[in-house]
Amino acid sequence: MNQVNIVIVEDEIIIAKNIARKLKNLNYNVCKIFASGQPLIDYITIQKPDIILMDIAIRGEMDGIETASKIKDIADIPVIFLTAYATPEVVERASETSCYGYIVKPFKDEELYATLKIALKKHQENSIVKKSLQDTIKEYSSQIENLYINNQTNLPNRLFLRDSFDYLVASINGEQLVAVLNISIDRFKKISDFLSKEQQDSLITEVAQRLQNYVESCGGQGITIYMKEDHFIIMITLDTKIQANNYAKEISNLLGQAIYLENQEIFLSTSIGIAFYPSDSFNIEELLQQSEKARDYARSQGANRHQSFSFAFNVKISRSSEGLHLEAELHHALEREQLELYYQPKIDLKTNSIVGAEALVRWNHPTMGRFEPYKFIPLAEESGLIRPIGEWILNRACQQNKAWQNAGLNDLTISVNISGIQFKQSDLFHQVTQVLFNSSLEPQYLELELTENILVENIKINIQKLNILKKAGVKITLDNFGTGYSSLGYLQQFPFDILKIDSCFTHNIDSNKINATITKNVIDMAHDLGLTVVAQGIETEAELNNLKKCNCDEIQGFLFYPPLNAKEFKNLLLSNKSIYSHK
Ligand code: C2E
Ligand code: MG
Repeated sequence: MNQVNIVIVEDEIIIAKNIARKLKNLNYNVCKIFASGQPLIDYITIQKPDIILMDIAIRGEMDGIETASKIKDIADIPVIFLTAYATPEVVERASETSCYGYIVKPFKDEELYATLKIALKKHQENSIVKKSLQDTIKEYSSQIENLYINNQTNLPNRLFLRDSFDYLVASINGEQLVAVLNISIDRFKKISDFLSKEQQDSLITEVAQRLQNYVESCGGQGITIYMKEDHFIIMITLDTKIQANNYAKEISNLLGQAIYLENQEIFLSTSIGIAFYPSDSFNIEELLQQSEKARDYARSQGANRHQSFSFAFNVKISRSSEGLHLEAELHHALEREQLELYYQPKIDLKTNSIVGAEALVRWNHPTMGRFEPYKFIPLAEESGLIRPIGEWILNRACQQNKAWQNAGLNDLTISVNISGIQFKQSDLFHQVTQVLFNSSLEPQYLELELTENILVENIKINIQKLNILKKAGVKITLDNFGTGYSSLGYLQQFPFDILKIDSCFTHNIDSNKINATITKNVIDMAHDLGLTVVAQGIETEAELNNLKKCNCDEIQGFLFYPPLNAKEFKNLLLSNKSIYSHK
């Protein structure tokens, strides 16, 4: 060891000088002598002596023991007490400062020498142990950090999920919720086929960045987690479930804005499933599964949507008690007359008149309340109940339309949504003709709405099926255009009559130039193919005006009317017989 630097704290200057002389003889360097504690503390913030010899009874507000314990907080310098007092209380207090020695005055030179030697050795050993401990902690923390952070996106990964969830749950009050948003990019595998590995990575990094910025800007407490490939989770605290829907919408819009990769411009759409703590589950693993089911359902409905979890989704994977109960209740829904059709008017933009309606089913349960279609159509499909329910919907819609016609109201077309499973039924044609026969409705007043994802498997067979249905005289609508592959060139092989543009294209077209251009082109192309174009989900005047400019044929949306029950719809037709006047 180089020469050892010692500081002495002793208020009796003669004693201090005497000790200093002895130390010099022992070849130590006494760099400073202080008579009180505070100047020593000031000194060690700048200089670090190797050891301090401290008298306990010194001048000033602090005694030697208090000074030593302050030093301990500031720097790792060993202290040896030199004192005339050795009562048990003083020794007890001194020992709490982790001092390196306690010499009672008067002492012999050898005692001082031995204590100094042992203290310095001990401190050196401690320093080595501390240093290696610090190195280990440092190494571990960086390993732990690497373990929890995904390198590519710089986002926390799956391992962070449970802790973050627990943290968010602990941070909310009794009325708040934690929403788990399960996000994945639609057709990611297909898009990736056109990209290099670097471009795929840049794409995911950009998505991660947008999501993280969004969550940070949201105000609530939230965290974005990267799961794998194109799969992200956002967990966020909220006051109401509606807030989660707004977040999901904003996320879709955000990720729907162009991403530039070298010379490529890419537009993404996303499917988002949402589950809530505590109403859906208390358990994060279960919330993950639930939000995933909801997301898959959103995708099966044509993608580019968000969907909250419903226990109806549980039936497929685990015949949970809630799912089974709901299924049993759904079995009785028809005979107990709990299903009801609502009708959303469709307006012709040239004549401003109501020219048709979309039939939208509701389930009014006497104790569980009203179920929207997304809560029970999947269950009906899964359990096979879609067959009698689908047939009932077709019958009801056609009979209702015929009843309005018989009452002298406008000749409207009624649109009925056909689910994937219904379309796969081999006797759909038979069902349709039977229903038309029973209701005496002329076939041109019935439209069948199908989404693209139903049709793109087994294209040839599906084209044949559609042609056969068209032979019955009904019209075929491509529903929710914009949410799937959205290539009209590809879809022109199908014998559609009507193209229904989804609100993801038309939403904010007044401010979103890209959407406006796409909508205009889609409408022009659809017209070239001889299709009637309906825009659905129209909520604002600005959207309406833009669609008028684009020569869209018909409009459906809350701006005009929400879905109405049969009575409300009839009253509307009666009050407004032929002309619809907006505002
Ligand atoms: P869809 O065929 O795309 O139906 C349009 C949905 O958009 C309806 O939701 C309607 O209430 C809603 N909507 C209408 N205007 C607006 C608007 O301006 N803004 C917004 N945000 N939404 C608007 P609904 O009734 O909940 O139906 C959801 C889906 O459930 C339907 O989507 C359809 O796929 C399915 N569905 C509804 N009724 C039936 C049915 O009778 N049979 C089958 N198989 N599926 C049905
Ligand atoms: Mg529809």
